[in-house]
Amino acid sequence: MKLSNFIATLLLLICIHSVSAFPPLFPNVNPWDAFQNLSGCHLGDRMPGLPDLKQYLHDFGYISGQSPANFSDSFDDELEAAIKTYQKNFRLNVTGALDPSTIDQMTLPRCGVPDIINGTSTMASKSSLHGRGLYTYFTGNPRWPPSQSQLTYAFTSTSTSTVSISVSTLREIFSRAFARWADATTLTFTEVENDADITIGFFSGDHGDGEPFDGVLGTLAHAFSPTDGRFHLDAAEQWVADGDVTTASSDAAIDLESVAVHEIGHLLGLGHSSVENAIMFPTIRTKTKKVDLAADDVDGIQNLYGKNPNYTGASPTTTVQQRDTSDGGGHGLGWWRGMVWRCIVVVGVGALVV
Ligand SMILES: [Zn+2]
Ligand SMILES: [Zn+2]
Repeated sequence: MKLSNFIATLLLLICIHSVSAFPPLFPNVNPWDAFQNLSGCHLGDRMPGLPDLKQYLHDFGYISGQSPANFSDSFDDELEAAIKTYQKNFRLNVTGALDPSTIDQMTLPRCGVPDIINGTSTMASKSSLHGRGLYTYFTGNPRWPPSQSQLTYAFTSTSTSTVSISVSTLREIFSRAFARWADATTLTFTEVENDADITIGFFSGDHGDGEPFDGVLGTLAHAFSPTDGRFHLDAAEQWVADGDVTTASSDAAIDLESVAVHEIGHLLGLGHSSVENAIMFPTIRTKTKKVDLAADDVDGIQNLYGKNPNYTGASPTTTVQQRDTSDGGGHGLGWWRGMVWRCIVVVGVGALVV
């Protein structure tokens, strides 16, 4: 074999067998897609991806009191217990193993607010009939005081500079989102320029509050409990601000109004709910619109702030959704993009050498 052919063959083999050594062609992929490789893992297994999964469970409150740097690749008792709690919270079969439905739930884009805060798990902790009464509050039940029932909100300067959504569209979307909560309660919301109770902004990566954003998908947004008022959205998301999100061209499209309605629930004092059709359920699928308060959301907010006498009750929850089909065949979009990139490298380098 000629030396050049040998080198080209060697490069080809290296590229095929060391695919993880190459950066993805498009970095904008779900940061949690790699969890699919852990499907089927259970107590006693060792897998290289388990430290990342432990980090995920740590970030959302399911593993506490351990330095993330020390996470091992062994599926230990602590991980099994965390997965069982997660499965209870999301009303999955409580197997303690990383079965496909648990992995699928974990890879969905979600709110950055933990499900368990300071060790207190509230999701799914109450007995429930017909999916009601599963709403939760933050520890200590913080709320806006009665003297502050007329709340104000403002967009920070980063809102207009980091995303390509017009200010007028942002105003419309957030006005509608706040109105959904105002309709059910005695609270009112007014946009102001300065000195607002609630501040709304888009941020990228680490933005100074210890809760860095992670690019496209993964964590979408987070908001702080009363009376903090900060509401942060990940500027890297493929936000759909107007138009029909279910027909968006991007497989990573996220409906802005749906996320806004959810985060406003946190700003008012609601935690996460185990009711899948509730606004306060932690995850939302791509290309999905979910903006109507469910009975669970209404019960929770009215218990905190009282009922608007003119409120006619929760609308049937409208959840139009289309599964992200990009992971057909067991591989995410990132996997295919990565393979295309690697093939380009192999062909290109091979041709140069030959
Ligand atoms: Zn949330
Ligand atoms: Zn933040």
